[in-house]
Amino acid sequence: MEIINISSARWQTQLKNSIFTVSQLSDSLNCHANDHVTTHSTDMYADFLKNSISKDNLEKVIEKYPMRITPYYLSLIRSAGDPIWKQAVPDIFELNDPVNIDDPLHEEPQSPVPAIIHRYPDRVIFLVSNLCAMYCRHCMRKRKVGISNNLSPVSEIDKPAQIHGTDHLSCSRGINNHNINNHNEIDLTDEKKNHLSQGLSYIGQNKNIHDVILSGGDPLMLSTEDLDRILFSIRQFDHVETIRIHSRILCTLPFRVTDNLASVLEKYHPLYINTHFNHPAEITDEAATACSTLARAGIPLGCQTVLLKGVNDTPEIMTELMRKLIKIRVKPYYLHHPDAVEGTAHFRPSLETGLEIMKALRGNLTGIAIPQYMIDLPGGYGKVPLLPDYIKSNDDKKAIVENYQGRTCEYIF
Ligand code: SF4
Repeated sequence: MEIINISSARWQTQLKNSIFTVSQLSDSLNCHANDHVTTHSTDMYADFLKNSISKDNLEKVIEKYPMRITPYYLSLIRSAGDPIWKQAVPDIFELNDPVNIDDPLHEEPQSPVPAIIHRYPDRVIFLVSNLCAMYCRHCMRKRKVGISNNLSPVSEIDKPAQIHGTDHLSCSRGINNHNINNHNEIDLTDEKKNHLSQGLSYIGQNKNIHDVILSGGDPLMLSTEDLDRILFSIRQFDHVETIRIHSRILCTLPFRVTDNLASVLEKYHPLYINTHFNHPAEITDEAATACSTLARAGIPLGCQTVLLKGVNDTPEIMTELMRKLIKIRVKPYYLHHPDAVEGTAHFRPSLETGLEIMKALRGNLTGIAIPQYMIDLPGGYGKVPLLPDYIKSNDDKKAIVENYQGRTCEYIF
């Protein structure tokens, strides 16, 4: 039985009060809001009107790429145009992108059934939801998230999840028989059930799949009961060894991480969560509590940070972020160079910027705080790690190697 507690009620209130329209955004910035939204003031509203795009333009962006901001995430904004704002508030640049490829990584051609992306032999991405607590402006799946006709619970926005008992016996049936959900408060469309069932069948039939990554959208937007059923079904396949969940909810709606969610997830070990923090201001007490709840359930936590121009593209910000992540028990896993996805060109820094940051992290931070800097090659060619060039010269006897201080040293084999 899910216990009705303050924190679980809080995440539902946050979802219900998320911001979807320009007038909601204006209203929120123009008042002292409640439920964690602290001191948004008329000053910020004035800034918003003065510095940001016009309301008309904002409407145009939202028409193509939806907006959703939780009151919690909005409360982290300190001024219009700051790094938190940039990740959450639409920008006219999204419509003025010289790049017009919405799927440069060729996820669609590598999708044998609608909910699966199968790029590498031993693992698949299982797209279980196309909803998120916030629609990040830099999202690499902008073409899908928040847009209907993909995998999404029906009218979740209008009808937030109701808290109700979890019948674990019902989970024992799994969802292999296309019967995902008979009694969930969040109903799933027939199309979505079908997609999930096809995805599960695909995983079941391909015995070389050892690692399943639940992604989306955000898998933690599903009800805990649906998640339980999906995880239960995946665990029926002996060839699946590890399950990973990719979720930004720890950052954008940390109250979603309840004790009940943690107790469901821990039934399916080995289970890992990779989350997504981009700026030190996102590491709040609430985020720390969410991470600690999951870590106590034995779930290793990693972070996939995205390098974003104007948000975190300096060594100082990145160093502070990595330090704060390991303090809340999250291991920096990847630093992604942003993909060349339509609508995100204004976020893309140069590769030199990324390499300089990596150079600055090395030596100044403990090794466990250093992520791998990754580019994802277009056309579905896969991820490649990039490193600063530490070897200055090299022959069959020795190499000249540069250290983090820029000093060179002869290294004899
Ligand atoms: S939470 Fe993840 S999937 Fe959702 S919009 Fe943000 S980056 Fe995209």
